[in-house]
Amino acid sequence: MGRLVRGLAAGGQLRVLAAETTDVVEEARRRHGTSPTATAALGRALTGAALLAFLLSKSPRERVTLILEGDGPLGGVVAEAGVDGAVRGYVKNPAAEAELRDDGKLNVGTLVGAGELRIVRVLASGEQFDSSVPLVSGEIAEDLAHYLWQSEQIPSAVLLGVRVAPGGHVEAAGGLVVQVLPGAEEETITRLEQNLAGIRGFTDLLTEHGLEGAAERVLEGLGLDWTDLRSLGYAEDAVPLRFACRCSREKALDALAYFDPEEREAMIREDGGAEVVCHWCGEVYRFSPEELRALGAEEVRCPDCGELWYKKRADGVEIVYPDSICKCGRPVETEPEPPNA
Ligand code: ZN
Repeated sequence: MGRLVRGLAAGGQLRVLAAETTDVVEEARRRHGTSPTATAALGRALTGAALLAFLLSKSPRERVTLILEGDGPLGGVVAEAGVDGAVRGYVKNPAAEAELRDDGKLNVGTLVGAGELRIVRVLASGEQFDSSVPLVSGEIAEDLAHYLWQSEQIPSAVLLGVRVAPGGHVEAAGGLVVQVLPGAEEETITRLEQNLAGIRGFTDLLTEHGLEGAAERVLEGLGLDWTDLRSLGYAEDAVPLRFACRCSREKALDALAYFDPEEREAMIREDGGAEVVCHWCGEVYRFSPEELRALGAEEVRCPDCGELWYKKRADGVEIVYPDSICKCGRPVETEPEPPNA
């Protein structure tokens, strides 16, 4: 389980959001089988989406989707988060990899490439806002800061980090956003800039000092006060973050209903059923021939009494009613010819 905390610094001149997302990113890696650099890209995007959701949302049930459309080998990153703490996301090419940078760090910028950062906000009403900015570096934190300034007029600093262990699993992941609020003094901004210049990476701070400790280092000398989340109705002192998808077996089956009955029959012939893979979370849903054939079923009932006469199925007609006369006395109409007969 990840955690998100928030606070104010410099007597209310700075707003701070910090998130620890190690478990969230590790689950994403496990589900999608991402390469080390793809894990770093996806992890930064997932963490960024969570921070953005809490930074931009004005009411519960809002969601923020962050889409990196780059021309690099990764082929794109999509991450979505809501203020309920649910985070999900994927990359187009999970196996894509890039050479390490000269400083020995994972080369997320090269893997993402040049392109656009799109942010889609969906309000509780279903209303949608979409805006985009060109990618600055593809390193994601810098791109988010650029977006916040260009599109939302929010001057901010963004730190995002994912540390991948030699075996590929996620050792630490997290991030932080400091928003400079209107009326902030020059002295405050200078101090913040000095602090940020001295930071090597957020995951180093996170592993050494923990989430709150890491944020306190970034805001050193600026008097960081944590917001009491319990008094705001949260059950804990931090908002729990988790990798969670909204897919289900029912929704997957619905998706199959869009295919023609002939196409579903072909799936049964060729694969012995159908498989639907959720691109958000990698969950695999398998459906038997019976489930596929029942999908196209249409009931025909007696127009007088509503008694079920027969079911029309994708593979033909299944007669249910045993007599030629309905129990209400009306003759059961002849079933139509099965399709493709
Ligand atoms: Zn899913």
